[in-house]
Amino acid sequence: MKILTVNAGSSSLKFKLYEMPEEKVLISGTFERIGLPGGIYTIKLNGEKIKKEKDLKDHSIAVETLIQELIDNKVITSLDEIKGVGHRLVHGGEKYAHSVIIDDDVIKTVSDLSELAPLHNPANLIGVDAFKKNVPNALEVGCFDTAFHQTMAKKEFLYPVPYEWYEKYGVRKYGFHGMSHNYIANRTAEILNNPHARIISCHIGNGGSICAIKDGKSIDTSMGFTPNAGLMMGTRSGDIDATIIPYIMKKTGENLDDVINDLNKKSGYLGVSGVSSDSRDIEEAVADGNERAKLAQDMYVEKIVNYIAEYYLELGGADAIVFTAGVGENSASTRAAIINSLLPLGIKLDPEKNNVRGEEALISTDDSSVKVYVIPTDEEVMIARDTYKFIENK
Ligand code: ADP
Repeated sequence: MKILTVNAGSSSLKFKLYEMPEEKVLISGTFERIGLPGGIYTIKLNGEKIKKEKDLKDHSIAVETLIQELIDNKVITSLDEIKGVGHRLVHGGEKYAHSVIIDDDVIKTVSDLSELAPLHNPANLIGVDAFKKNVPNALEVGCFDTAFHQTMAKKEFLYPVPYEWYEKYGVRKYGFHGMSHNYIANRTAEILNNPHARIISCHIGNGGSICAIKDGKSIDTSMGFTPNAGLMMGTRSGDIDATIIPYIMKKTGENLDDVINDLNKKSGYLGVSGVSSDSRDIEEAVADGNERAKLAQDMYVEKIVNYIAEYYLELGGADAIVFTAGVGENSASTRAAIINSLLPLGIKLDPEKNNVRGEEALISTDDSSVKVYVIPTDEEVMIARDTYKFIENK
């Protein structure tokens, strides 16, 4: 059975077509600059990458183009072969603790939640609409970034602010990267052969979050009300004292949107180093003796270490620490700096085993108190699995 996974942004659309339940990726690709001049798309098929230019007026045109490519490349002969389309949806609020079949009620709820995710939810829904129009016989399933974290206890997800902010306005920690942390929870439990394992999942890429997992469930996570909470990231500040915001507004004359933009787009690695938001550039600048890049790297590592230590206690110890996403999977030096700071907990890195990129590996020593792994994440396969389950159970 063929299942398509979709991640729709405001001007982009990423997809993967799976043969399920084998979980075989048949074709994948990305459409970019949708609704902008100079539309472009890339397709990966049989190990080959094809790049094409085409004006993509809207998401529906992108989906039409995608279907034509599937037929031209003989991946499908008829549209009816696609039984399900699984959409990554960013914010499901408190309503969705699991993936759902997308009906009118879900669309309304996701739309109502746009206030909490103005960049993501409306764009996700445009994607849903484009597939409803172009692949009308497929079952559409929504998989939320927030759903996995709905198992957090109230004492973890509430902020110490007036209680009615939560009751009236939904102010609480939601957490994000749920599909990724859930994948890491499943895969690590499988590797350890222990469904009850205490796992600290470190998803560190452009955005980053850490999740404390026990019995396969999210106990706590570093992102909060929005994805600009917790860790220092590529361009995001992570946690700061909220009072800095009005102070900077007064000092610079910037308005609220400007300052929020600074915190989302001009902070983190980029803001501190003044060099780049990309950890590869930071590593190069550190090697060249750039002091602010070194400062940015030290701060970045320290925030991650702090969360790992916090979750180690919150979980009552840990069975595994896992690194995933762009930085976590690829940057041996960042992993080394983090794990070496955890030595007081008896956690020990094997520098040779740590010399890996983008592949599953145990990187701790045999006598380390906690096993440390690199596990490439796979959010799409989680979406494909959930979508497949709905079709199987129909
Ligand atoms: P996103 O949060 O956008 O999904 P990714 O998980 O793809 O991001 O992570 C992207 C980041 O991963 C890049 O900005 C870069 O900092 C980092 N990265 C990718 N490859 C490497 C590498 N070989 N060494 C160090 N960092 C890397």
